Amino acid sequence: MKAWRHNIIAKVVSLLVLIAAAGSLAKAEAAAWQGDWLYRPGMVPQAYERVTDGQWLPEPGTASEAWRKFDYPGPPSLADGVHWVALSRTISPAEVKDNTLTFATTNESVRLWLGERLIYEYGHFRDVPMGDGYRWHIVVLPEFYSPAQLTFELYSNSPYQLGVVENLGLSTEMEAVQTLFWQDVPNLMAIPVCLLLMVIMLLYHHFTSRKDRKLYFAIVGFLGIFSLWLLCAAKLTLLVFDAPVFWWYALSILAYLLPISGNLIVYEVLRDEPDARMDIVVGAEAVLLAIAMAGEAMGLHLMNRMMALYYPMLLVSESAAAYWLWRKAAKGDYRARALICSVAAFTLCGVADGLAGHFHLWSQHSFVTPFAVLSFCYFVFVIIGRQLAHQREMAARQADLEYEAAVATEKAERDPLTGCYNRQRLDELASESLNASQREHLPMSVLLLDIDHFKQINDEFGHSAGDKVLKDFTAVIRQALDRSKPFIRWGGEEFLVFCPQLGMKEALDFAEKLRRLVSARKLGGVDVTCSIGVAVWHGRVDSFQALFKRVDQALYMAKNAGRNCVRLEGGKLPELYC
Ligand code: GH3
Ligand code: MG
Ligand code: MG
Repeated sequence: MKAWRHNIIAKVVSLLVLIAAAGSLAKAEAAAWQGDWLYRPGMVPQAYERVTDGQWLPEPGTASEAWRKFDYPGPPSLADGVHWVALSRTISPAEVKDNTLTFATTNESVRLWLGERLIYEYGHFRDVPMGDGYRWHIVVLPEFYSPAQLTFELYSNSPYQLGVVENLGLSTEMEAVQTLFWQDVPNLMAIPVCLLLMVIMLLYHHFTSRKDRKLYFAIVGFLGIFSLWLLCAAKLTLLVFDAPVFWWYALSILAYLLPISGNLIVYEVLRDEPDARMDIVVGAEAVLLAIAMAGEAMGLHLMNRMMALYYPMLLVSESAAAYWLWRKAAKGDYRARALICSVAAFTLCGVADGLAGHFHLWSQHSFVTPFAVLSFCYFVFVIIGRQLAHQREMAARQADLEYEAAVATEKAERDPLTGCYNRQRLDELASESLNASQREHLPMSVLLLDIDHFKQINDEFGHSAGDKVLKDFTAVIRQALDRSKPFIRWGGEEFLVFCPQLGMKEALDFAEKLRRLVSARKLGGVDVTCSIGVAVWHGRVDSFQALFKRVDQALYMAKNAGRNCVRLEGGKLPELYC
């Protein structure tokens, strides 16, 4: 039943991810530019110098060898070592009504020309150690511009990125900002989800057993890195902190860290699987990151180039992870089963985004990775659900154990025939009563009750009739006692009653009341009487032994006085109660 429910949830989550992915793909670049695009590669610094002369651009079409057509948005085909390119297209009269141009570039310096006029400039236009970063550009075209040749002059440190102008649109300024906002919605929605899951996992990390802590720690780590990645990938960050190079490098490093941290979760889930070599997977990904960072530091632009290795490696390593998880899930491991869904969602979404973003394998740009967090929610909820169920089970088991322990203790402390406490509890009950009285500065008394001629009852009516008399006797006495007066079977047919708060007079009255209750009715079908000795606690100088001795003597006196009467310790009492 439970497995069936999990299956359904997993399918619903996967479906949501797919729908979201399809939606994003469909929405992306809805306004692609279809007109004729021309490009013209060049070399720096010659090209740069020509630009400064204002002479560098022959009219497209007139120098047909220099200008070539290409299919936008795919990048033009450029020879190795080319760092500079110009892309050009005529803005048609129909497009002139909107005046705001938006587009995105990656690691490219940009100059924008409208006809002969330079209208926008961004970047270094020469090799700098850190390139130019990922950048969204919003360019407001001059008022009343006429249809003209729009030319992008692009320079990239890393030729691998050169010539890519993404998400190009001509709209109003408002629409341009809205476009950026909509692009960021998946990120902005996924970040709070991640943070919430992190808080939940941190709480679990805090309260869980040592064994599970590493897994929760790995989950928190992955969610933290994923949140940062989402933040760095958000376009609106540029509006807050306009440092494209910073965001680009942060995004790149986090992109390498994401599979590493994600696979650490898989590593923890597969910890006791001897065949699963997640250590090798994580190690290989860490080595790739180290090489990419070292290469970047040396100016080889490896961060980007290594993506050609990163994505195939991702597919291989995550397939291996999914296979090992599947094998563990087949053995009934719920965590492995729930995690497969996440591994698949992150890998497929990540690879789809990567192939579109880095390799431009298809014209549509996608940004579906943020939606994969939904599948991760499923994984986290499965863990929490199981944990709660486990805790409930433990609590129920604990309650059972406590109940059984209480029953056992009760059994050990009670006399089975009469239900009175046995002598095992005597010391404890005596000190409880005494401490209560001392705390409240109140007196305390002890009664010792003994059934008269009980041996005769046994002899006359039999042992079981004697037992019945004992039961009825204790039942009658118990009715007259409250919770503050413990009732103890001292031995045979003798019983002790502690009377906290009762001084001599009250204790004698109470004893007399008990005596009358017993003598007033037949117990076990027999007329029964009892004798009662009374002793009073004399304060700190007194001891239990002395108190019990005195109460025993008082009972002895009651027996000597003819039975069915009450006697106080020391025998000072006038024969009031005979
Ligand atoms: P007295 O009036 O002086 O107290 O005389 P008694 O016969 O009551 O006193 P005694 O101490 O001589 O006898 C107590 C008897 O109680 C002895 C024993 O067989 C009986 N007895 C002790 N425990 C039980 C019990 O659990 N069940 C029954 N049926 N008899 C018991
Ligand atoms: Mg007796
Ligand atoms: Mg006796």
